[in-house]
Amino acid sequence: MENIEKIKEEIRSLLSSVSSLKELRDIKSKYLGSKGVVKELLKKIKEVPPELRREYGKKVNELKEFAEKLFREKEEELKRRELEEKLKGEWVDLTVPPERVVGSLHPITITLERIKEIFKGMGFEVEEGPEIELEEYNFDLLNIPKEHPARDMQDTFYVNKEGYLLRTHTSPVQIRTMLKKKPPIQMIAPGKVYRRDDDPTHSPMFHQVEGLVVNEYANFRHMKYVIEEFLRRFFETDLPVRFRTSYFPFTEPSAEVDIGCVICNQEGCRVCKETGWLEVMGCGMVHPKVLENCGIDTEIYQGFAFGMGVERLAMLLYGIDNIKLFYENDLRFIRQFF
Ligand SMILES: [Zn+2]
Repeated sequence: MENIEKIKEEIRSLLSSVSSLKELRDIKSKYLGSKGVVKELLKKIKEVPPELRREYGKKVNELKEFAEKLFREKEEELKRRELEEKLKGEWVDLTVPPERVVGSLHPITITLERIKEIFKGMGFEVEEGPEIELEEYNFDLLNIPKEHPARDMQDTFYVNKEGYLLRTHTSPVQIRTMLKKKPPIQMIAPGKVYRRDDDPTHSPMFHQVEGLVVNEYANFRHMKYVIEEFLRRFFETDLPVRFRTSYFPFTEPSAEVDIGCVICNQEGCRVCKETGWLEVMGCGMVHPKVLENCGIDTEIYQGFAFGMGVERLAMLLYGIDNIKLFYENDLRFIRQFF
């Protein structure tokens, strides 16, 4: 029985120096295993004089419980310490600047930001609207008649809900802005638009930036200045700009804007189809019906609007000849734009 007390001491001292779970398991099996010290002590009960057996049995059981408790505690402690070590090793300081910046902005994002910055610098506000739009805002209020070909299922993605579609241009954002704000208005609306179109220069989804100015004195000359100034800042050169008469249901008069070919410097090339000119934008004085549709008094106010394709401008700015390159996300292409 004295031996039992000694064994307790022995376990205690052994455990104080254990530093790994494996070591702990080995010691545990030495004492509590099927051929361990405790089992051996229990077998020896036959050698104990009968009057002491009860007492002996009690002592051995105490030892067993004592040992089990100590091993359990030590195991928990070691597991906790192991986890702490692991966490310390895996700790990542997110505030440390990386050695190398991975990733870059997409060329369309860069171009959109460039356009926004130029217009913000000219006093325009940026407005946004939903991509799933009311047919009424996309067509009706913009004076686009019911029989207009743009409304055809061939050209427009309709949504499975009566009266809704994927916006075909960012012009409905003009409508939303005029319905919600009083003039003077001076805004641009950048965003994604959708058309059933798919070839090397057209994608079913692309980006547009629409501009709108409504105040008491907006006129064609004012519009011409804004557009020319924008184009010169965008291409960072004093390029020739011309306005050609055109037709849009939502503007009157309307014009298309050409710039001198930035690829060949107006010498004539494949991109400008040997004409020396590139069409980059549509514009015009806002049709009075559109203003009236939005509750704006045409006796007092007039406006002009313009719209441009972002992919088109990006292709010209960077000399890219296939619109698909923007959507394939081939890193060899994307990495060129930092
Ligand atoms: Zn050219």
